[in-house]
Amino acid sequence: MELIILGTSAGYANKNDGCSSYLLKYKDKHYLIDVGPGAVSYLQNFINYTQIESIFLSHLHADHVSDLYTLRYAVYYAQGLNMMKKPLEIYMPATPVETVNFIKSNVEEEFSINWIKDGDQINIDGMIISFLKVNHPVETYAIRFDSDEGSFVYTSDTSYFDKLVRFSQNANLILAEATLMESDKDKESFGHMTSKSAAKLAKEASAGRLILTHIWPENDKLTQLQEAESIFKDVTIAERGEKHIIDRIK
Ligand SMILES: [Zn+2]
Ligand SMILES: [Zn+2]
Repeated sequence: MELIILGTSAGYANKNDGCSSYLLKYKDKHYLIDVGPGAVSYLQNFINYTQIESIFLSHLHADHVSDLYTLRYAVYYAQGLNMMKKPLEIYMPATPVETVNFIKSNVEEEFSINWIKDGDQINIDGMIISFLKVNHPVETYAIRFDSDEGSFVYTSDTSYFDKLVRFSQNANLILAEATLMESDKDKESFGHMTSKSAAKLAKEASAGRLILTHIWPENDKLTQLQEAESIFKDVTIAERGEKHIIDRIK
């Protein structure tokens, strides 16, 4: 499996970055995980949008979905020309209802919506995909991908909690949100993690390695990296355009 970072900012896109969006490649198919601002433009450095196999939305906050509304026009165009022969599969939570209704009214014909629930597990092309409801103000899921090549956990937006440790156990790679610096630790109650909490997650889960993402644009990345390294050594900060191989070596 291979992970391509399309955007790393929390809330709004930092200069020359996008918000949460990632491409996971497995058996030559590409799965788009979250579709934050900038995703549609940037993913075309790697694939044509017609090559997206399916889309996973961890939750419906704008920094994770906003480019879905413009991707819709690309998909509409491609389907009209038979470049995409069937609706694009999308997996997403069923709430908040107002956002779901807005999405459905915008994208329903081009996309085929599958609802995700806590504890769901699906098998796509031999890859087992599991969902865990996490701590965030709206219905939000951490997503785990297990294949013969390795295991990968994306925390989405959440604070640290024990169930997330169990869910992430022995993952070769954890892509964890680290919205907060240690000096903002009191804000974890809003449903986010500091770098140290993300590092604690990786350590407690005996993960192979950790990538920090969803960094608040005003934060100092080096400080956040150092804070995480004090707890878990094999950690990096996500940068747009990076490719990471996920295998069982780590
Ligand atoms: Zn977010
Ligand atoms: Zn969020």
